[in-house]
Amino acid sequence: MEAVGADVRIDAAGNLRGFYPAAESKAPRLLLGSHLDTVPNAGAYDGVLGVVLAVALLEALDGRRLPFGIEIVGFSEEEGVRFGAPFIGSRALTGRLDEKLLERKDSRGISVRQAIEDFRLNPGEIPLAALGNDILGYVEFHIEQGPVLETLKRPLGVVDAIAGQSRLEFTFVGRANHAGTTPMHLRHDAIAGAAEWITAVEREAHKVLGLVATVGTIEAKPGATNVIAGEARLTLDVRHGLDEVRIRAMENLIREAEVIAKRRGVSVSQNILLSQSAVAMDPFLIHEIEQAIRKTGCEPHRMVSGAGHDAMIVAEKVPAAMIFLRTPGGISHDPAESVAIEDVAKGIECGLHLLDQLSSSPTFHKRMCRA
Ligand SMILES: [Zn+2]
Repeated sequence: MEAVGADVRIDAAGNLRGFYPAAESKAPRLLLGSHLDTVPNAGAYDGVLGVVLAVALLEALDGRRLPFGIEIVGFSEEEGVRFGAPFIGSRALTGRLDEKLLERKDSRGISVRQAIEDFRLNPGEIPLAALGNDILGYVEFHIEQGPVLETLKRPLGVVDAIAGQSRLEFTFVGRANHAGTTPMHLRHDAIAGAAEWITAVEREAHKVLGLVATVGTIEAKPGATNVIAGEARLTLDVRHGLDEVRIRAMENLIREAEVIAKRRGVSVSQNILLSQSAVAMDPFLIHEIEQAIRKTGCEPHRMVSGAGHDAMIVAEKVPAAMIFLRTPGGISHDPAESVAIEDVAKGIECGLHLLDQLSSSPTFHKRMCRA
């Protein structure tokens, strides 16, 4: 970043930030970036590609100044691997890295606060990491981490919303009994009830466009080959770009579980572990990105991001948008994760078109005057 003329610092939340000034001083700034951390046994592109791509855009500007400044942000702790809490870096930018989060501990008992100090940063300066009033928007390049663009044979996509998610835990309770002596019609089998419901979850999700629903874990008690299960505990993860669709699906699946349980003479209860609303991306930026993608000779694809990203946190404060790059095989969070060099070239080309468009856009100019 220094080599391309940016002024570089690390803020108190560990975000790496480089500021490339505008043609005139005191001009507002556009944020570009993604995250620098990743998951264990990860690939090489999730997150960091968006940071490197932003640096490549500055490099391609070759010293040319724009009517707005550009700040590149390499976010820290997006994945939440160490402290079990994601988006620590981006939360600092929106002023949401609070005391409670700072006291959170990792598996070795080291708090976020301590980790920041060990990194020779000052947690007392976290408020200084927050965004000012001069931010025009945030644009994040990221690998898709899924198979949609590859299936459509398109290198680039634009995210119109980040899906909301619900996570629930379901417990089916029947009666544990002898697997040999209890006739089939006299059983209250918790696993069989849960299994019938799992297939119903899959069927429901297939019926609704864009809905994804997953039973990712199942645990049965007492858990013996020769015992009918008395209890089965499952998790459900439901996501959709529209909150009302997700909530309706969740209600249907709860009702379905109750119907199945009643018919089988077992009981079912559930509790909600997480309920997170969908986050819409900025319509103006979406439109500009689509135009920029078309200028590269590609047809843009509008899509919902099923995964959470820093953009969804930053969107609380400033207009945000995301550009997805096709992910070969849809594989991510794995060493096999990759990206085609031609697609990265299209990404850079799209980014440069976008910067040019924003530089001459009357709508963006109005935003600049307000900032
Ligand atoms: Zn990521």
